[in-house]
Amino acid sequence: MRKKVIAANWKMYKTPDQALAFFKDFLPLVAGHDRDEIVVCPPYLDIPCSIEVTQGSDVAIGAQDLHWEKEGAFTGEICATMLLAVGVTHVIIGHSERRQYFGESDDVVNLKLKTALEHDLTPIVCVGEVLEEREAGLTEDVLRRQCLRAFHAISGKKAGKLIVAYEPVWAIGTGKTATPKLAADAHALIRTEAAKAFSEEFAERLRILYGGSVKPENAKALMAEPEIDGALVGGASLDPMSFAAIVKY
Ligand code: PEP
Repeated sequence: MRKKVIAANWKMYKTPDQALAFFKDFLPLVAGHDRDEIVVCPPYLDIPCSIEVTQGSDVAIGAQDLHWEKEGAFTGEICATMLLAVGVTHVIIGHSERRQYFGESDDVVNLKLKTALEHDLTPIVCVGEVLEEREAGLTEDVLRRQCLRAFHAISGKKAGKLIVAYEPVWAIGTGKTATPKLAADAHALIRTEAAKAFSEEFAERLRILYGGSVKPENAKALMAEPEIDGALVGGASLDPMSFAAIVKY
């Protein structure tokens, strides 16, 4: 049995005060909930106060990105040791918004993944096709390429903490959700790629989350699909009641 992970991606929303207000309402709603792992990924500036306020709870704090170098002249960037120094445990890598708006390539995703694993962070690597690719029948090719390149030259031993999120880009922030069956087919393909890159046993243990307009109303049906090992939630994670309802689907 793979323990599900329910992760929030706050994107560029919430000041530190707003983050604290969120946790004040959210933490009591999920107190004692240990069926699933709960992760919240706030903007960098909200991370220290989020870590402080979630101490002793079952909520882990992740970052939304990291740079692959140890340190250096990379204005505006954040490295793994900085994340570790404030208590971050998880990091999202290769989110479609990074790929789409910041030109993040599959090779950069691979560099970031290697760095996260070397630093013992739990990476949540995002893959997924855009609408034109799905309509052109290219979904499988795209997912295969993204996995192959992301996992390149990483051993199964090193990749132990890897989590993958399947996020069809046409479902992100659009209110369109993949059906559980469509998501399950994509997850099965990703699992096959993980088996090729690492091993069958590794792939069997790999948690693959679904992301794309997950809401309290559709979470139960998605989470009932055995291939879906949790959710990466954007918009609906900004409200404590709504994210708690998803956690407790
Ligand atoms: C996301 O940003 O990873 C995401 C899935 O967003 P939303 O839930 O808003 O579609």
